[in-house]
Amino acid sequence: MLMRRVSQKILIVISGLLFTYFYCEYLIYYVVVAQCYWPTSEKLIEGQYLKAFILADTHLLGPFRGHWLDKWRREFQMQQAFQAVIAIHKPDVVFVLGDLFDEGEWTNEQQFRDYVDRFHKLFKLPDEIKMHVVAGNHDIGFHNNIRRYSAKRFVELFQAPSVQHVILKGSQFILINSMALHGDTCELCLDAKRSINRISDSINCTKNVECNQQVNFNNSRPIIMQHFPLYRVSDAVCTEPDAPPLPDRNKNFRIKIDALSKESTKYLIEKLKPRAVFGGHTHHGCKLLHTYKNLNLEFLEYSVPSFSWRNRLDPKFMLVSISPDTYAVNKCGLPRERTIILTAIIMIFGLVIFLSTKRTIGR
Ligand SMILES: [Zn+2]
Repeated sequence: MLMRRVSQKILIVISGLLFTYFYCEYLIYYVVVAQCYWPTSEKLIEGQYLKAFILADTHLLGPFRGHWLDKWRREFQMQQAFQAVIAIHKPDVVFVLGDLFDEGEWTNEQQFRDYVDRFHKLFKLPDEIKMHVVAGNHDIGFHNNIRRYSAKRFVELFQAPSVQHVILKGSQFILINSMALHGDTCELCLDAKRSINRISDSINCTKNVECNQQVNFNNSRPIIMQHFPLYRVSDAVCTEPDAPPLPDRNKNFRIKIDALSKESTKYLIEKLKPRAVFGGHTHHGCKLLHTYKNLNLEFLEYSVPSFSWRNRLDPKFMLVSISPDTYAVNKCGLPRERTIILTAIIMIFGLVIFLSTKRTIGR
């Protein structure tokens, strides 16, 4: 009798601990991610809009920096969170806004290939969901540090040229390598400029009846996806709750390092006349209204916070519903480590209480 009671108790302890582990290591990501949803509006008709999952700054650790435990833990968390988003929200497309890697610029060929394999393993997607990435400064280096092969291999392995024009469900996206907008005469910059000019011509072409060029998209304005934010003096203008903490928020941006230059921003906006711009790089949130009276243009720019627990206590991602005429944005949070630990403690505490009441009842 006593033996049976003891073995029953051991069984409860083991299954309680196993469930706590399973919940805090796997299920919690699904529970939290399920609380976010695709934003809608009157103009967005179910089934007809594009569902875009946007994330930034995953900063996978490489062979040089960080502790192996930190690396393993962060990658595990990001993998769980990413797979939870894919399983629950089933996006049509995933955009990764640069700094996929932390040490991409320093790695040799083999190390970079391993890095890319790991990225694809962690952020594995079913065949029907396409992923588009843009390069970040940690992937290929800041403009002045870009080695020829580091930009080339990124382009090849991710099929991500400096400027990409992607059309999805009638909406246009221009994906840009921010380091190629430095504005000098380097090969990368010249190539980016040629592409932007060409895309600009083809966009204008849709509005011009005289134009003979064959175009296969409607004339709604494009959405820009890049790594750097557009030109801004600092993050002091950011009022989102996840904006950088003070006093960092007021620190002036280093131009062409923290954000695009004024000239590149002007060039980009005049050429592409976007209806929205998404970027990463700052690791924090920001929503900014840009008004260009001379162009009769107004649009919002969103800084997408980092997806990694290395960069934020509360990593985030965006679910964006997009049609050619409109779009709506939802920013979604991931569980804080503190919440995960607290949940585990509460669950173990609950188990102890359960066992002690069981003993009392048993008596
Ligand atoms: Zn960056």
